[in-house]
Parts: sequence; C-alpha cells; structure tokens
Amino acid sequence: MREEGNLHALELDRVTVRFPDGEGWTDALRDVSLDLALGEFLAVTGPSGSGKSTLLAVAGLLLTPTEGAVRLAGADVTDNPARTRTDLRRNDIGFVFQQPHLLGSLTALEQLQLAARLDGDRSKATTARAKELLEQVGLGNVMHKRPSALSGGQRQRVGIARALMGDPRLLLVDEPTSALDHERGIAIIDLLRDLTIDRGLGTLVVTHDLGTLCPDDEVVRLVDGRLGRLAEQVPAAAP
Ligand code: ADP
Ligand code: MG
Repeated sequence: MREEGNLHALELDRVTVRFPDGEGWTDALRDVSLDLALGEFLAVTGPSGSGKSTLLAVAGLLLTPTEGAVRLAGADVTDNPARTRTDLRRNDIGFVFQQPHLLGSLTALEQLQLAARLDGDRSKATTARAKELLEQVGLGNVMHKRPSALSGGQRQRVGIARALMGDPRLLLVDEPTSALDHERGIAIIDLLRDLTIDRGLGTLVVTHDLGTLCPDDEVVRLVDGRLGRLAEQVPAAAP
C-alpha cells in the first residue's frame, strides 16, 4: 500500500544483521542507518565481504534484520509476514541484477510482458506500458529483437525496463556495470540517474566501479558492515 505524500523511498534505522559462522557470529551489517528519498540516487561501495549484498537483501525485504527497522514509504515493514513482503516486492520494489537473465527465445518487449504476467497483470495496458518503458531506456528501435541480437548494454537496459514494469518507487541495483565496458557502464549509470529523477524513484546502486559515477553523485561506503560517507572513511594522507 502506498502512502501518497511520503517523500521517503527507504529508511533503514539502526539495522544489524547477524549470521552464525563456524565459531560464533558475524555481523554482516552493524548499526546501519540510511534514508533514501524519492528522486535520490545513492551509490554504495565497499570491499568484498563488507555487507553490500546483505544491505540489498534487507532493503529488498528478502532478509529480516536481527535488530533495527526497515521502512518503505514511511511504513514500518520490518515484521511484515512473508506474503505481505512478497506483495511489496512485486508492487513497490524493482531489482536490477549484475546480469539481466533474459530468456533467449523472447524479444525485449516479450520479456517485459512476461514479467507483468508473472506478477498477475493481464491488462491490455501492459503492452503499451512495456513499449513506453523500452522507449525510455533507449530501446524503442530494437524492442522486437531477441537478446542474442542485442549488445550487453542493451540487454542491461531491458533488465532495467523490466524492473520498472511494476511501477516501483524503490529501485535496488547490484553491480549493473560489472559485465560492461567502461563507456557502456557510464551510459547505464547515466540512465539509472535519469530514471531516478524522471520517475521520482529512490535508487540504491551497489558498485565497485567508481569511475562510472559523476563527481556530484552521492556515495556511501561499507566497511566491515558499517556505513559511512566516502570521504569520512578514506584515511587522510600522512603529513
Ligand atoms: P558483499 O556483498 O559486500 O561482498 P555480503 O553482504 O555478501 O558482502 O557479506 C557480508 C558478510 O556476511 C561476509 O562476512 C559474509 O561471509 C557474511 N554472510 C553473508 N551472507 C551470509 C549467510 N547467509 N550466512 C552466513 N554469513 C553470511
Ligand atoms: Mg556481494
């Protein structure tokens, strides 16, 4: 359910995620707080094992934090039952993965139509909406092509358009440029930033690829499960 007028896409309030490991416990996230507004584009970076995937899993309601709270559009969803979480994932959250995992036999347009159908949407408006989204991601002229006829960047754009089919307000993106060359990576990040503003999304992008970002982009960094501004954690050069 959407609360119109709320400007928050996602809030994490002192979230800790603790996993058992062989000897004891690992805190994958430690006391992480984050407030992502609608229309805000936030990049999350950090070394391997620092908690980035765990952060996306918590934000995507795939994982319940050990401590702390998760709010979507201002509503506390931390303890929502599985069925409600699934509904929220379908209706309010879009996911973009490292690889778009497209079906080889379907055209770009059909990939989006299938996604809508799997979400139970059989309305006639679906096709019009899919076409509009494909136009918006720059694939208007190739929407009837299959993945094998598309470049890596174009396939990633199909994945992005597909993630927007349910008209989410939160977009969670995991390493979207890691399989692309530098120029195509920049173009994908530019597209995500533009969509964030045009559609009023809250967008969280996990990336190692700081070279694809703009100097004005907001970047936070995870280190050992703790979140900080990039500048705060870069150690000052020795005098
Ligand atoms: P990243 O995505 O930044 O590489 P992760 O979020 O995958 O980091 O992992 C953060 C820490 O939590 C790591 O120490 C990892 O081993 C641990 N971890 C992640 N998922 C699990 C799990 N399901 N069970 C146990 N430990 C986990
Ligand atoms: Mg990871």
